[in-house]
Amino acid sequence: MDFNLNLGSFTTDHRTVPLETERIYDVIITGGGPAAMTAAVYCMRKGVSTGFVTREIGGQVSETSGIENYLGYKYIEGRELVNRFSEQVKQFEIGFREGAGVLKIETGDVKKVAIDSGETFLAKTVIISTGNRWRKLGVPGEDRLVGKGVAYCAICDAPFFAGKRVAVVGGGNSGLEAAIDLAKVAEHVTLVQFLEHLTADGILIDKIEKYGNVDILLEHEVKEVKGDEGVTAVTVAERKTGKARDLDVQGVFVEIGLIPNSEMVKGVVDLNERGEIVVDCACRTSAPGIFAAGDVTSVPYKQIIIAAGEGAKAALSACEYILMGK
Ligand SMILES: Cc1cc2nc3c(=O)[nH]c(=O)nc-3n(C[C@H](O)[C@H](O)[C@H](O)COP(=O)(O)OP(=O)(O)OC[C@H]3O[C@@H](n4cnc5c(N)ncnc54)[C@H](O)[C@@H]3O)c2cc1C
Repeated sequence: MDFNLNLGSFTTDHRTVPLETERIYDVIITGGGPAAMTAAVYCMRKGVSTGFVTREIGGQVSETSGIENYLGYKYIEGRELVNRFSEQVKQFEIGFREGAGVLKIETGDVKKVAIDSGETFLAKTVIISTGNRWRKLGVPGEDRLVGKGVAYCAICDAPFFAGKRVAVVGGGNSGLEAAIDLAKVAEHVTLVQFLEHLTADGILIDKIEKYGNVDILLEHEVKEVKGDEGVTAVTVAERKTGKARDLDVQGVFVEIGLIPNSEMVKGVVDLNERGEIVVDCACRTSAPGIFAAGDVTSVPYKQIIIAAGEGAKAALSACEYILMGK
């Protein structure tokens, strides 16, 4: 594909350099979603020495099909938006490390960022933007059957369930998006919702009602996922009566929310009761020189545009902190 032709200023000219262990960076950004990538662009344009360390590029946006609420695009596929963000970051000589999980961040005048390979990177400031991960049901059979019918990402895995019967657990935006993706390919979808009503946006509820192959079970909970080599049934129970029955399905998509990836700063910065990193309006955490942005923080409304805006704010706060010589 000719990116320059199709996308105007889009470039394939990557100038990233390896992240170095012996150097003290002005800023190290952890995470690879919209918050981290926006922070990276802001830091590089400010001219501060910047390191970037992430498990993978894209974050939750990679798992999103159509995005219709990121300004500048009436509609864009999640993976295409990730490519555009990533190209914008990689045009800079940023110290770059992908495929690395941050295990621990230590505070001090020089912050230490330890990753799962055993290496430790050093910086005057750190921006944490490690987002969220899928919440599990915690019922028998779930862990054993992950990858054998139990799935968390409909965008990634829906095609494997073409012509099959599936259950989707969760009546929020993620649940309905998954049910819609699956309704297009699966024989039948049962949406299982714990509450007595769906909590997704009206536009998604309107969409799902147009599919003839979707049933919605309100006020039900999943008790067990059954199967040996693959999922063969999901046991659900009515919450009011406790009456249980098996749904004849070959797949179950668990879409019951997300958990913040904040373990690396537990005991280092303040977390709220949900495990989110508490930040003030300038993305400052309780530890001087450690900033946080995006879904991993206490900032409400988890959205791409909000994560990106918070990433910009965290970068500017970190640059100001460095400028003040703190
Ligand atoms: C199915 C779905 C659909 C959505 N649809 C929309 C939509 O239409 N519009 C919208 O605005 N928002 C949507 N959202 C929400 C949006 O995607 C998020 O709000 C946004 O991606 C948050 O960005 P983030 O950068 O904070 O974190 P994330 O996108 O979660 O990125 C976190 C990054 O950190 C990395 N990471 C995690 N832990 C570590 C670690 N220990 N060490 C190193 N790296 C780590 C991950 O690999 C990832 O790259 C959707 C979310 C989902 C799940």
